[in-house]
Amino acid sequence: MVYLNGAYLPPEKASISPMDRGFLFGDGVYEVIPSYDGQMFLLDAHLERLRRSLSAIRLPDPMPDGGWRAMLQRLLQENPGADRSVYLQVTRGKAARDHAFPAQTAATVFAMVSPLAAQDPAVAETGVSAISVPDQRWGRCDIKSVALLANVLARQQAAEQAAVEAILLRDGLLTEGAASNVFVVRDGVVRTTALGPAILPGITRAFVLEVLRAGRQDCREEPITEADLRAADEIWLTSSTKEVLPVTRLDGRPVGTGRPGPVWRKALERYRQARVRATRGPGLEIHHG
Ligand code: PMP
Repeated sequence: MVYLNGAYLPPEKASISPMDRGFLFGDGVYEVIPSYDGQMFLLDAHLERLRRSLSAIRLPDPMPDGGWRAMLQRLLQENPGADRSVYLQVTRGKAARDHAFPAQTAATVFAMVSPLAAQDPAVAETGVSAISVPDQRWGRCDIKSVALLANVLARQQAAEQAAVEAILLRDGLLTEGAASNVFVVRDGVVRTTALGPAILPGITRAFVLEVLRAGRQDCREEPITEADLRAADEIWLTSSTKEVLPVTRLDGRPVGTGRPGPVWRKALERYRQARVRATRGPGLEIHHG
Protein backbone atom coordinates (compact mmCIF):
# COMPACT_ATOMS: atom_id res chain seq x y z
CA MET A 1 0.00 0.00 0.00
CA VAL A 2 1.13 3.54 -0.73
CA TYR A 3 -0.18 6.89 0.46
CA LEU A 4 -1.35 9.51 -2.02
CA ASN A 5 -3.16 12.73 -1.09
CA GLY A 6 -5.09 11.35 1.86
CA ALA A 7 -5.74 7.80 0.56
CA TYR A 8 -4.02 4.48 1.33
CA LEU A 9 -4.13 2.36 -1.79
CA PRO A 10 -2.26 -0.25 -3.84
CA PRO A 11 0.49 1.35 -5.98
CA GLU A 12 -1.22 0.38 -9.24
CA LYS A 13 -4.29 2.37 -8.16
CA ALA A 14 -2.23 5.48 -7.34
CA SER A 15 -1.89 7.98 -10.16
CA ILE A 16 -0.60 11.51 -10.54
CA SER A 17 -1.38 14.07 -13.21
CA PRO A 18 1.23 14.67 -15.93
CA MET A 19 0.67 18.35 -15.07
CA ASP A 20 2.14 17.78 -11.63
CA ARG A 21 4.99 20.21 -11.04
CA GLY A 22 7.05 17.40 -9.57
CA PHE A 23 6.92 15.70 -12.97
CA LEU A 24 7.30 18.84 -15.09
CA PHE A 25 9.88 20.79 -13.04
CA GLY A 26 11.20 18.55 -10.26
CA ASP A 27 9.44 21.12 -8.04
CA GLY A 28 9.34 19.17 -4.79
CA VAL A 29 11.23 17.75 -1.84
CA TYR A 30 11.50 14.34 -0.19
CA GLU A 31 12.74 12.32 2.78
CA VAL A 32 13.84 8.73 3.36
CA ILE A 33 13.38 7.40 6.89
CA PRO A 34 14.61 3.98 8.05
CA SER A 35 12.31 1.89 10.21
CA TYR A 36 13.35 -1.10 12.33
CA ASP A 37 10.69 -3.50 13.60
CA GLY A 38 8.01 -0.92 12.90
CA GLN A 39 9.87 1.91 14.72
CA MET A 40 11.03 4.82 12.61
CA PHE A 41 14.57 5.86 13.53
CA LEU A 42 15.33 9.57 14.10
CA LEU A 43 11.90 10.52 12.76
CA ASP A 44 11.92 13.93 14.47
CA ALA A 45 15.19 14.86 12.78
CA HIS A 46 13.83 13.77 9.38
CA LEU A 47 10.61 15.75 9.87
CA GLU A 48 12.61 18.78 10.97
CA ARG A 49 14.72 18.56 7.80
CA LEU A 50 11.54 18.14 5.73
CA ARG A 51 10.15 21.36 7.23
CA ARG A 52 13.44 23.12 6.39
CA SER A 53 13.33 21.83 2.79
CA LEU A 54 9.66 22.87 2.39
CA SER A 55 10.33 26.31 3.77
CA ALA A 56 13.43 26.72 1.55
CA ILE A 57 11.26 26.15 -1.56
CA ARG A 58 8.42 28.24 -0.07
CA LEU A 59 5.93 25.37 -0.02
CA PRO A 60 3.58 25.43 3.00
CA ASP A 61 3.72 22.23 5.08
CA PRO A 62 0.70 20.21 3.86
CA MET A 63 0.62 18.03 7.02
CA PRO A 64 1.41 20.05 10.11
CA ASP A 65 0.58 19.15 13.72
CA GLY A 66 1.66 15.54 13.85
CA GLY A 67 0.03 14.73 10.50
CA TRP A 68 3.23 13.28 9.07
CA ARG A 69 3.88 11.03 12.04
CA ALA A 70 0.33 9.64 12.03
CA MET A 71 0.30 9.06 8.27
CA LEU A 72 3.71 7.35 8.21
CA GLN A 73 2.84 5.13 11.19
CA ARG A 74 -0.39 4.05 9.51
CA LEU A 75 1.47 3.36 6.24
CA LEU A 76 3.97 1.18 8.13
CA GLN A 77 1.08 -0.73 9.71
CA GLU A 78 -0.33 -1.27 6.22
CA ASN A 79 3.08 -2.69 5.18
CA PRO A 80 4.13 -4.85 8.13
CA GLY A 81 7.59 -6.33 8.31
CA ALA A 82 10.93 -5.96 10.00
CA ASP A 83 13.24 -3.41 8.40
CA ARG A 84 11.76 -0.85 6.07
CA SER A 85 12.63 2.40 4.42
CA VAL A 86 9.88 4.99 4.22
CA TYR A 87 9.99 7.38 1.27
CA LEU A 88 7.89 10.53 1.24
CA GLN A 89 7.63 13.24 -1.37
CA VAL A 90 5.83 16.59 -1.54
CA THR A 91 5.46 18.54 -4.78
CA ARG A 92 3.85 21.89 -5.56
CA GLY A 93 0.93 20.03 -7.15
CA LYS A 94 -0.69 20.22 -10.57
CA ALA A 95 -1.17 23.43 -12.50
CA ALA A 96 -0.85 24.82 -16.02
CA ARG A 97 2.83 24.71 -16.93
CA ASP A 98 4.45 27.97 -15.92
CA HIS A 99 7.72 28.26 -14.03
CA ALA A 100 6.41 30.75 -11.45
CA PHE A 101 4.31 29.31 -8.61
CA PRO A 102 0.61 28.73 -9.36
CA ALA A 103 -1.77 30.96 -7.40
CA GLN A 104 -3.73 28.20 -5.69
CA THR A 105 -2.74 24.57 -5.93
CA ALA A 106 -2.88 21.74 -3.43
CA ALA A 107 0.46 20.08 -2.84
CA THR A 108 0.82 16.45 -3.96
CA VAL A 109 1.82 14.20 -1.05
CA PHE A 110 3.07 10.70 -1.74
CA ALA A 111 4.65 8.08 0.52
CA MET A 112 5.71 4.47 0.10
CA VAL A 113 7.45 1.77 2.12
CA SER A 114 10.17 -0.53 0.78
CA PRO A 115 12.20 -3.34 2.31
CA LEU A 116 15.45 -2.12 3.86
CA ALA A 117 18.29 -4.51 3.07
CA ALA A 118 20.64 -5.18 5.98
CA GLN A 119 24.31 -4.45 5.34
CA ASP A 120 25.89 -7.46 3.64
CA PRO A 121 28.19 -9.10 6.24
CA ALA A 122 30.84 -9.47 3.50
CA VAL A 123 31.17 -5.67 3.54
CA ALA A 124 32.93 -5.85 6.93
CA GLU A 125 35.67 -7.90 5.25
CA THR A 126 35.88 -6.31 1.82
CA GLY A 127 34.32 -2.85 2.00
CA VAL A 128 32.94 -1.30 -1.19
CA SER A 129 34.28 0.57 -4.21
CA ALA A 130 33.63 4.21 -5.02
CA ILE A 131 34.66 6.53 -7.82
CA SER A 132 35.25 10.27 -7.70
CA VAL A 133 33.45 12.58 -10.13
CA PRO A 134 33.05 16.35 -10.50
CA ASP A 135 30.09 17.73 -8.50
CA GLN A 136 27.83 19.21 -11.17
CA ARG A 137 24.87 20.02 -8.89
CA TRP A 138 23.29 23.38 -8.10
CA GLY A 139 24.09 25.80 -5.28
CA ARG A 140 21.48 24.60 -2.74
CA CYS A 141 22.38 20.98 -2.09
CA ASP A 142 21.24 21.50 1.53
CA ILE A 143 17.64 21.27 0.23
CA LYS A 144 16.48 17.66 -0.17
CA SER A 145 15.08 18.32 -3.64
CA VAL A 146 13.60 15.62 -5.88
CA ALA A 147 15.51 17.23 -8.79
CA LEU A 148 18.36 14.70 -8.73
CA LEU A 149 19.58 14.58 -12.33
CA ALA A 150 23.24 15.32 -11.51
CA ASN A 151 23.13 12.72 -8.70
CA VAL A 152 21.54 10.19 -11.08
CA LEU A 153 24.23 10.72 -13.72
CA ALA A 154 27.01 10.45 -11.13
CA ARG A 155 25.55 7.26 -9.64
CA GLN A 156 25.11 5.76 -13.11
CA GLN A 157 28.78 6.43 -13.83
CA ALA A 158 29.62 4.60 -10.58
CA ALA A 159 27.34 1.68 -11.48
CA GLU A 160 29.01 1.33 -14.87
CA GLN A 161 32.35 0.99 -13.04
CA ALA A 162 30.93 -1.55 -10.56
CA ALA A 163 31.21 1.02 -7.75
CA VAL A 164 28.48 1.57 -5.13
CA GLU A 165 28.86 5.32 -4.89
CA ALA A 166 30.17 8.39 -6.68
CA ILE A 167 32.09 10.76 -4.39
CA LEU A 168 31.66 14.35 -5.56
CA LEU A 169 34.47 16.93 -5.81
CA ARG A 170 33.92 20.64 -6.36
CA ASP A 171 36.79 23.11 -6.80
CA GLY A 172 39.28 20.62 -5.36
CA LEU A 173 37.15 19.95 -2.26
CA LEU A 174 35.10 16.93 -1.24
CA THR A 175 31.40 17.71 -0.98
CA GLU A 176 29.53 14.40 -0.41
CA GLY A 177 28.39 11.24 -2.19
CA ALA A 178 25.65 11.14 -4.85
CA ALA A 179 23.30 9.82 -2.11
CA SER A 180 25.43 9.83 1.06
CA ASN A 181 27.71 11.92 3.24
CA VAL A 182 31.44 11.13 3.26
CA PHE A 183 33.81 10.78 6.22
CA VAL A 184 37.58 10.37 6.06
CA VAL A 185 39.96 9.13 8.75
CA ARG A 186 43.66 10.03 8.90
CA ASP A 187 45.95 9.24 11.83
CA GLY A 188 42.95 8.44 14.02
CA VAL A 189 41.14 11.74 13.39
CA VAL A 190 37.65 11.60 11.83
CA ARG A 191 36.75 14.39 9.42
CA THR A 192 33.68 15.23 7.40
CA THR A 193 32.74 18.21 5.25
CA ALA A 194 31.24 21.07 7.25
CA LEU A 195 27.53 21.83 6.74
CA GLY A 196 26.60 24.53 4.25
CA PRO A 197 24.77 24.94 0.93
CA ALA A 198 27.14 22.48 -0.82
CA ILE A 199 25.93 19.36 1.03
CA LEU A 200 22.81 17.76 2.46
CA PRO A 201 22.76 17.87 6.28
CA GLY A 202 22.58 14.08 6.61
CA ILE A 203 20.66 12.72 9.58
CA THR A 204 23.04 9.75 9.75
CA ARG A 205 26.05 12.09 9.51
CA ALA A 206 24.82 14.03 12.57
CA PHE A 207 24.06 10.86 14.51
CA VAL A 208 27.46 9.28 13.75
CA LEU A 209 29.22 12.48 14.86
CA GLU A 210 27.16 12.48 18.05
CA VAL A 211 27.85 8.87 19.03
CA LEU A 212 31.56 9.15 18.17
CA ARG A 213 31.96 12.37 20.17
CA ALA A 214 30.11 10.77 23.08
CA GLY A 215 32.89 8.14 22.96
CA ARG A 216 35.55 10.91 22.95
CA GLN A 217 36.55 10.31 19.34
CA ASP A 218 38.18 13.41 17.80
CA CYS A 219 35.79 14.48 14.98
CA ARG A 220 36.21 17.59 12.83
CA GLU A 221 33.76 19.26 10.48
CA GLU A 222 35.93 21.18 8.03
CA PRO A 223 36.93 21.44 4.37
CA ILE A 224 38.49 18.24 2.98
CA THR A 225 40.67 18.52 -0.10
CA GLU A 226 40.92 15.99 -2.89
CA ALA A 227 44.47 15.28 -1.66
CA ASP A 228 43.09 14.57 1.86
CA LEU A 229 40.54 12.19 0.36
CA ARG A 230 43.20 10.30 -1.61
CA ALA A 231 45.56 10.11 1.38
CA ALA A 232 42.87 8.87 3.81
CA ASP A 233 43.46 5.76 5.92
CA GLU A 234 39.69 5.16 5.85
CA ILE A 235 36.74 6.54 3.89
CA TRP A 236 33.13 5.95 5.00
CA LEU A 237 29.75 6.70 3.47
CA THR A 238 26.75 7.45 5.70
CA SER A 239 23.05 7.48 4.86
CA SER A 240 19.75 6.36 6.31
CA THR A 241 19.80 3.20 4.20
CA LYS A 242 23.59 2.52 4.16
CA GLU A 243 24.27 3.20 7.86
CA VAL A 244 28.10 3.55 7.91
CA LEU A 245 29.72 1.88 4.92
CA PRO A 246 33.50 1.48 4.49
CA VAL A 247 34.99 2.41 1.11
CA THR A 248 38.09 0.34 0.45
CA ARG A 249 38.73 1.24 -3.20
CA LEU A 250 38.58 4.72 -4.69
CA ASP A 251 38.97 5.04 -8.47
CA GLY A 252 40.36 1.51 -8.53
CA ARG A 253 43.11 2.17 -5.93
CA PRO A 254 43.08 0.81 -2.37
CA VAL A 255 42.06 3.14 0.46
CA GLY A 256 44.61 2.76 3.31
CA THR A 257 45.26 -0.94 3.74
CA GLY A 258 42.50 -1.80 1.29
CA ARG A 259 40.44 -3.33 4.13
CA PRO A 260 37.75 -1.74 6.35
CA GLY A 261 39.54 0.10 9.16
CA PRO A 262 39.33 0.01 12.96
CA VAL A 263 37.73 3.43 13.31
CA TRP A 264 34.94 2.40 10.91
CA ARG A 265 34.37 -0.75 13.00
CA LYS A 266 34.02 1.34 16.14
CA ALA A 267 31.73 3.85 14.39
CA LEU A 268 29.37 1.18 13.08
CA GLU A 269 29.28 -0.58 16.45
CA ARG A 270 28.44 2.66 18.32
CA TYR A 271 25.88 3.59 15.68
CA ARG A 272 24.15 0.20 15.90
CA GLN A 273 24.10 0.19 19.71
CA ALA A 274 22.59 3.67 19.79
CA ARG A 275 20.08 2.77 17.09
CA VAL A 276 18.90 -0.30 18.96
CA ARG A 277 18.51 1.77 22.15
CA ALA A 278 16.57 4.44 20.25
CA THR A 279 14.15 2.07 18.49
CA ARG A 280 13.59 -0.42 21.29
CA GLY A 281 10.33 1.05 22.49
CA PRO A 282 7.90 3.89 21.93
CA GLY A 283 8.95 7.23 23.37
CA LEU A 284 12.65 6.36 23.38
CA GLU A 285 13.41 8.12 20.15
CA ILE A 286 16.46 10.37 20.29
CA HIS A 287 15.67 13.96 19.37
CA HIS A 288 17.88 15.87 16.98
CA GLY A 289 18.00 19.46 15.93
N1 PMP B 1 23.69 13.39 0.78
C1 PMP B 1 22.84 13.14 -0.23
C2 PMP B 1 23.01 13.86 -1.54
C3 PMP B 1 21.80 12.19 -0.06
O1 PMP B 1 20.94 11.94 -1.05
C4 PMP B 1 21.70 11.49 1.17
C5 PMP B 1 20.67 10.42 1.38
N2 PMP B 1 19.38 10.87 1.24
C6 PMP B 1 22.61 11.79 2.20
C7 PMP B 1 23.59 12.75 1.96
C8 PMP B 1 22.52 11.10 3.54
O2 PMP B 1 21.48 11.65 4.28
P1 PMP B 1 20.74 10.82 5.43
O3 PMP B 1 21.79 10.36 6.38
O4 PMP B 1 19.83 11.82 6.04
O5 PMP B 1 20.05 9.68 4.77
